[in-house]
Amino acid sequence: MALKYFVNEVGLLRSNSYIAYDTVSKEAVIIDAGDDAWKILETIHAHKLRPRAIYATHCHFDHVMAVEDLKQTLDVPFYIHPADRDILLKGKELTRSFLGIEVPDPAKPDGYVEEGDVVEVGGERLKVIHTPGHSPGSVCYYTEGLLFSGDTLFQGSVGRTDAYGGDTAKIVDSIVNKLFQLPDSVEVLPGHGPSTNLGWEKRNNPFVGERGMLRRP
Ligand SMILES: [Zn+2]
Ligand SMILES: [Zn+2]
Repeated sequence: MALKYFVNEVGLLRSNSYIAYDTVSKEAVIIDAGDDAWKILETIHAHKLRPRAIYATHCHFDHVMAVEDLKQTLDVPFYIHPADRDILLKGKELTRSFLGIEVPDPAKPDGYVEEGDVVEVGGERLKVIHTPGHSPGSVCYYTEGLLFSGDTLFQGSVGRTDAYGGDTAKIVDSIVNKLFQLPDSVEVLPGHGPSTNLGWEKRNNPFVGERGMLRRP
């Protein structure tokens, strides 16, 4: 058996909030909770899932804004990569200066994930892959057949690297040398927009695929 998932599109920037769950035990983890906590809670209740924790692919506000509400309602811990602590703490300020909008105080992380960590979900496992570039603490979560890619890899695109802490050379390295080492058949579940698969992105992604513009010397 492999993990299955539900997705809700949430908030102003239409970010994807995923719930990965084990079909046998119904144990679940929330991967990114950008906004609209009610939508995420509705999915959990409708499918009788047992949420264990919230994980962030990175700490931009559009991926963490519902975390505090969910923590209070579900009483679950929140995990981030330590290299995004700064972005989480500066979130209010950064969001105000880049987008001119006010967001609530950030949720406090209860723990951290690092490259190679394994998250147990029921009888299944999610592996943490550190993929810096879009932000210093961007991570992807990989399980058999599924890759939760955050804002690192999108269908036909890659995450922007012009925001605070972004680094283009690093995002290319993360995608080509880490994500593209996984099998072609893996379904990619990005932080925004539709899903894709690794085989298609390896061949056709206009930025990081075989003939991608960011791979030219
Ligand atoms: Zn982002
Ligand atoms: Zn985003």
